[in-house]
Amino acid sequence: MILIGVGTNLGYREKNLLDAIRLIMEFSTIHHCSKVVETDALLPENAPQDWDMPYLNQVISISYNNTALTLLSDLQSVEKKLGRGPHARWSPRVIDLDILWFMGQVIDYPQLKVPHPQIMKRPFVYEPIKELAPEIYLQLALQEEASLT
Ligand code: AMP
Repeated sequence: MILIGVGTNLGYREKNLLDAIRLIMEFSTIHHCSKVVETDALLPENAPQDWDMPYLNQVISISYNNTALTLLSDLQSVEKKLGRGPHARWSPRVIDLDILWFMGQVIDYPQLKVPHPQIMKRPFVYEPIKELAPEIYLQLALQEEASLT
């Protein structure tokens, strides 16, 4: 199982989610899509007010016949195609694609960390994972608990 987090807080957000899914289907098979959840943007204290725009977030499960690094590069091309250019950290974005889980692999490269390190800190990510893949949520919760003790 491979889980991808999809987020958007700029432009026509519902369309951005659909466009991203359509492009991801060009190089993978999509199995399930979670409910879409709306959440306030996570922002540092001194962020400009116009960055404070709510996100739509969704998690999708896919299968993919190549490595996690290749998937990262494919997802980054989707982000570019949908108009995401260089941007400040925390600033609004048309689309954000994260590899949350990649067939149970633990990956720790400078450019790719899997499972995504922020999953258990973000309800808008772990709640959709609970819905799509409760067994993976359980593994992540146990890992998080072990890392805190
Ligand atoms: P963000 O602006 O939050 O989308 O962060 C993008 C950066 O996070 C990229 O440069 C990726 O190389 C890096 N990154 C590290 N781990 C992951 C992951 N699991 N999924 C997607 N991007 C990742």
